[in-house]
Amino acid sequence: MFPLLKYREEEVESFLARVTDADVRASLDAARPDWFDLLNLISPAARPRLAELRRAAQLARRRHYGRTVSVYAPLYIGNTCVNACRYCDFRRGHVGTARRNLTLDEIRAEAEVLRSSGIDSVLVVAGEDPQVNTVDHLADVGRLLKPLFAYRALEVAPQTEDAYRALFAAGYEGLTCFQETYDRTLYREMHPAGPKADYDWRLGTQLRAGRAGFRTLGCAFLLGLGPWRREAASLAAHAYHLMRECYEAKVQFAFPRICRVDGGFVPPCEVGEDDLEQMMLAFRIVFPSCGLTVSTREAPAFRDRIVLTAADNMSAGSRVTPGGYAAVHADDTAQFTLSDGRPPAEVFAAIRAHGQEAVFKTWDNRI
Ligand code: SF4
Repeated sequence: MFPLLKYREEEVESFLARVTDADVRASLDAARPDWFDLLNLISPAARPRLAELRRAAQLARRRHYGRTVSVYAPLYIGNTCVNACRYCDFRRGHVGTARRNLTLDEIRAEAEVLRSSGIDSVLVVAGEDPQVNTVDHLADVGRLLKPLFAYRALEVAPQTEDAYRALFAAGYEGLTCFQETYDRTLYREMHPAGPKADYDWRLGTQLRAGRAGFRTLGCAFLLGLGPWRREAASLAAHAYHLMRECYEAKVQFAFPRICRVDGGFVPPCEVGEDDLEQMMLAFRIVFPSCGLTVSTREAPAFRDRIVLTAADNMSAGSRVTPGGYAAVHADDTAQFTLSDGRPPAEVFAAIRAHGQEAVFKTWDNRI
């Protein structure tokens, strides 16, 4: 569990098992839903009321985000990594992964291809390689991207608060760090070596970034590692903690789901599409103003549907290999399997077809 939560796994599980239909209805009607309402809404008892969850979530989404959908794309700048995450083909020593770290010129070329596709918000992603992705290098990348994109975010190795200050000054405004699992024992199993083996250092990432000025703090667990309801309870507790400590920042949830592929990592606790939808609807109802991201790991039909009810943020045209926009290399290894291969123009068209509008940021600190 999230360590500041005063309930143990068994207590959360037993609470979830005791939720009744009346509890679910009360949570759907709550004026200011709280953590217990989240538990009610993600419980098995809420599953028959998915249609009502959809209506309540859509109302909350409409109130806080109108008809806008924020769109972004990841920009992978390198895939060398000193960590050994069992579920990732970028892990150190993994045979068959072509390793690449882009130069600043190559990053510019990637950025220009992305911009020409209409994308104006970028998430810079890299494996954890302290020799390559130094703070100075990441800051150079931030300064390079600042005039090109309206919004820049980072998903790289956890940094110190001072490093985050430098990175914020270089132009990054958002930070994403997946805890992967809030279960310490499972965390140790999944991250046997490298700096990522340190659970607490990773857990404090958003707090350090928030204190350094970052405006968006992205949190998630990797869906498929541990039992999803228990992980969702921890994720929500983590969010409450960040909202209290970094009240000027916006918490953003992502829901990255491991979808099983032949020969790939087999998730120990597979999460179905209905589970994912229930969880996203519940988070939208309980955290109406927080960001909710739907990943390109999900199929187009699900993504197009969930941005109407729960998600306000989606990736489009993603390539999850370094250099994947400017040129596709035959030996490229993707970090994970994508289910939505539509180019940005098609995603924009689908958003418009549903009466919504694609946006890239909703505020500007340069004004
Ligand atoms: S998940 Fe991230 S830290 Fe882990 S091996 Fe992959 S790139 Fe490295």
